[in-house]
Amino acid sequence: MEQQKVNLILGELAKLYPEAAPALKYRTPYELLVAVILSAQCTDERVNKVTAELFKKHNTPRTMLELTQEELEKYIFSCGFYRNKAAHILSASRDIMERYGGEVPKEHAELKTLAGVGQKTANVVYSVAFGGDAIAVDTHVFRVSNRLGLAHGNTPEKVEKDLNAAIPKELWSKAHHYLIYHGRRVCHSQKPDCKNCTLKEWCEYYNK
Ligand code: SF4
Repeated sequence: MEQQKVNLILGELAKLYPEAAPALKYRTPYELLVAVILSAQCTDERVNKVTAELFKKHNTPRTMLELTQEELEKYIFSCGFYRNKAAHILSASRDIMERYGGEVPKEHAELKTLAGVGQKTANVVYSVAFGGDAIAVDTHVFRVSNRLGLAHGNTPEKVEKDLNAAIPKELWSKAHHYLIYHGRRVCHSQKPDCKNCTLKEWCEYYNK
């Protein structure tokens, strides 16, 4: 896609969603890390309800590790995939205690070394908690950027690579939120509301 079209799309998204920001509630990088792990295949609203309870007593790696796998599973049960998620949260917490003195590391490469932390989680924590430049590719970002033609990929890795190439680095984190908002509000997975979409002029899917 030509740069001019990319700029027009980003400009329109910025106009549509000036308030674009993460919907997950967190107060520290560690809370964000746990919330992002819980958010896989789960709504942010549900995660916020679960973490409101969980973080009352367990919002640091040290206090999280006071819980057994089974105890943590009870807290996070309603988020789905609770066994894996509990195991990931506990392994990441152990790693943070043992290798990073109890603090979530700030560097992207270090975040990715934490057990249970993949590329998407590392990107969100790196950009949202530490102000780094990264585009985390979730289901909305994947769908909307492929439809618009900002990316052409059938894996999150390829889509992230395409977006990194198409979008100026300083806008990566913003673009991540814009694409999520557009996916939630207009470019729905089953029935995209193309008729009312102000991006249709530049959208590959619409203009096919
Ligand atoms: S025109 Fe349709 S497919 Fe394209 S971004 Fe808008 S809603 Fe999505």
